[in-house]
Amino acid sequence: MSNPLWFNPGRCLIGGDWKAPVSAQSLTLVNPSDGSEICQIARGTEPDIDAAVQAAQTARNGGWGRMTALERGRILTRLGQLVLDRVDDLAQLEAMDVGKPLTQARADAVALARYCEFYGGAADKVMGETIPYLDGYTVYTLREPHGVTGHIVPWNYPMQIIGRSVGAALAMGNACVLKPAEEACLTALAFAHLALDAGLPPGALNVVPGLGAEAGAALSSHPGIDHISFTGSVATGALVQQAAGKNVVPVTLELGGKSPQLVFDDADLDAALPFLVNAGIQNAGQTCSASSRILVQRGVYEQVKSRMAEAYRQLTVGPAMQDLRVGPLISDRQKQIVGGFLEKGADLTVAGQGQIVDSATEAGAYVQPTLFADVPPDHVLARDEIFGPVQVLIPFETEEQALTIANNTDYGLVASVWTRDGGRQMRLAKGLKSGQVFINNYGAGGGVELPFGGVGKSGHGREKGFEALYGFSQLKTVAAYHG
Ligand code: NAD
Repeated sequence: MSNPLWFNPGRCLIGGDWKAPVSAQSLTLVNPSDGSEICQIARGTEPDIDAAVQAAQTARNGGWGRMTALERGRILTRLGQLVLDRVDDLAQLEAMDVGKPLTQARADAVALARYCEFYGGAADKVMGETIPYLDGYTVYTLREPHGVTGHIVPWNYPMQIIGRSVGAALAMGNACVLKPAEEACLTALAFAHLALDAGLPPGALNVVPGLGAEAGAALSSHPGIDHISFTGSVATGALVQQAAGKNVVPVTLELGGKSPQLVFDDADLDAALPFLVNAGIQNAGQTCSASSRILVQRGVYEQVKSRMAEAYRQLTVGPAMQDLRVGPLISDRQKQIVGGFLEKGADLTVAGQGQIVDSATEAGAYVQPTLFADVPPDHVLARDEIFGPVQVLIPFETEEQALTIANNTDYGLVASVWTRDGGRQMRLAKGLKSGQVFINNYGAGGGVELPFGGVGKSGHGREKGFEALYGFSQLKTVAAYHG
């Protein structure tokens, strides 16, 4: 394979220039498929974040701030085309960096392009309204950008998360400071190169890689930031919200989940089966909207259990470049976390497990996908987010019981219902504590257009779709008295 690194990964993008970090220090990026070093990346710290925020402010007050929505949209649309032109290069980078099987990495690159296209097209279609008011007044609202937006992105879906947050923020005319994850930041850097090629003015997008406790903390507490979008763990999300709160800055939090799929006796099992398994093992289960709980009505429980167990036995796990169903986890640390959960499941019945192929060496962060059966709803594996290829099967008798179990977590990101009963579909769509509910599908193919976000500890605020454009803007009311 030729070297997929077509840029210098050791720099920060600040004000349109690729700069060495002030610390002159670097961090090692590790390939989770074999434990090898990929490259050194910049260890950005507080002074780099400060310079990036200043560059973003300059862009907001300059050409970027004055650019028409039509022009911003054209740049984003061009960027989407540049991403499409390099889909395979981006997929290789993501596969190497995240350990994602190539097909999944490629789908993420296509989604990134789609976000650019969607928000490029939407940029000049966000409108205020006129409000009927007292005699002698004309009242209307304006949608304006926040100013400088901070974007703290995790390692599991860098391209998709950058697309949905940075794409929408730029469409609204914000200038962005992006802090990618220290475990995987190559596609963030590649995207920034393409953004400059697409004509994005200097300072409209700044990228500072670095550690969460350094660059991330500096970004979330910076007084020059006007809005923060954070995706990651609950604990870090709470820290980010606290830091932003001191500056009275709005925060969008997209945290984890324990998303259920509810399978009823009347479900079309042939249609459901691929979704039941795939939603749990995609990206090795390291997906905020992974479906880690499968609730099955008693009449079809044994059938679903044996068919899912068989699907698990067919799962192969290996290096990302071999493009099997499951790749490694992001790191040894994540492998330890998931291993800890598997130990906590020692009292449970294992219904089926996938197979790690011989070419997957000990140095890679591999775990065997595992399906547990007959899991009590209060078991730690049925309540805590695992972030690995682990699913639990929970039997239930009635619709009411299914709803109680489904809602019995601190999270509420995604849920799905498999049934042919229209009334039940509607009742559960209303009753489920969840930011998204899918009926007879799971995820609706990714849905760039579909507002996404959680309730409870899954977070607050919505990204994706048109809704994100409202989140990345603020409303101004203008009341003119003319008599
Ligand atoms: P994390 O929340 O610590 O990291 C996510 C991002 O936040 C990274 O860019 C990181 O550098 C940054 N960050 C870390 N500490 C920070 C701080 N003090 N201030 C500002 N930014 C900071 O997540 P992690 O350590 O990579 O993973 C831990 C767990 O989080 C996982 O096991 C998983 O359960 C969960 N997680 C969830 C998602 C999701 O999409 N919901 C994504 C990644 C991880």
